[in-house]
Amino acid sequence: MELGRFSLGMGDRFGREGAAQLDAVMAAGRLGADLTPVWNKSNREHTIVGTTPADTRAAADAAVRAAGWTGPYRVDADHINLKTVDGFMASSDFFTLDVADFIGEAPAESDLADFVKANRRFVGRLAIPGASLALDVTDSSLAEIGRRNLVAVRQAAATYRRIASVKGPGTFVTEVSMDESAEPQTPGELFFILAALAAEGVPVQTIAPKFTGRFNKGVDYVGDVSRFEREFGDDLAAIAYAVQTFALPSGLKLSVHSGSDKFSLYAPMRRLLHARRAGLHLKTAGTTWLEEAAGLALAGGEGLALAKEIYVEALARYDEMCKPYATVIDIDRARLPPPAVVQAWSGTQYAAALRHDPANPAFNPHLRQLMHVGYKVAAEKGTRYLQALDANRVTIGGLVTANLLEKHIRPLFVGA
Ligand SMILES: [Zn+2]
Repeated sequence: MELGRFSLGMGDRFGREGAAQLDAVMAAGRLGADLTPVWNKSNREHTIVGTTPADTRAAADAAVRAAGWTGPYRVDADHINLKTVDGFMASSDFFTLDVADFIGEAPAESDLADFVKANRRFVGRLAIPGASLALDVTDSSLAEIGRRNLVAVRQAAATYRRIASVKGPGTFVTEVSMDESAEPQTPGELFFILAALAAEGVPVQTIAPKFTGRFNKGVDYVGDVSRFEREFGDDLAAIAYAVQTFALPSGLKLSVHSGSDKFSLYAPMRRLLHARRAGLHLKTAGTTWLEEAAGLALAGGEGLALAKEIYVEALARYDEMCKPYATVIDIDRARLPPPAVVQAWSGTQYAAALRHDPANPAFNPHLRQLMHVGYKVAAEKGTRYLQALDANRVTIGGLVTANLLEKHIRPLFVGA
């Protein structure tokens, strides 16, 4: 099951925006960027919103019919593991095997010895074509990589085999994600992780490492962009070389779990993808829900009242909202506007504070991050929230499409 050179992982927490998202994907095709749309929703999101994987599948299928999309599309069981995968079996055809929790767990000495032996042919100077630096590979550097990653690779293999035993091999896309680990993986480490995945027979099609720098939710990258650029280029090189060397699927590509809105990385990524003719899977996850909130605010009346109510409640329940996302947000509480200030805002003021326009002085990244993780409050509004979305369909759909197309797809994929 091929994914194509470029694919876009989109989040749609409440299952209402699929057709608007596909409008953006179809516009991308007209601009020369062919993307496979993928809807991703993690177990954590399902738990918080109160939905099931079957809901995501139903929303995706309905969106495809409504938009008249005739290309391939996928439903991603995002960040699953052996404990949670069963609930996604029937609905998903893309599985993101999250093994970050197993990184650093010590493998059996015999497994480690086998790994070092299998990769001993790389000992010495390893010049990966296209990488910025050659690697000095030694028995001890191999052992160190194995010690950190072999248990995680084994876990990915066990999860892959479980899915394959139920669905049949070749019927789904396999992603391995390590992006929620504590430390970034170097490109050299990525190369040997791929060696180990190949040795375990995992037909990995996308791999999500952790990069250097901070990938906070819904706001731009915090870190050294030129360092990221070098690392990204080296990761592309490591993947291309691993495909040749270890007989991995030819379409294997990098998956960037962006946490949304890494605008400053898009231009360097596009240049490298173009220069290397490389593929990419981009997960943009959750900003679609923020466009819904902005659309409600701009609609005025009951929509604006509801958008304000959601912010005020999320603020009052700050610790509860932020806890599941503590490692991927940086909110300065002193910069969050108090309820009375927000209550006095017009819809335009609300949307300006919320929407990610770095050039707009009214943009407030602290408020944006809180709203990003505050979707539980919207979920609790139940039908009142969903009816407000339906009542303002045209406004919200337009924002969802424009956000995806203009802020993400065009700067990253068009011309890549
Ligand atoms: Zn992730």
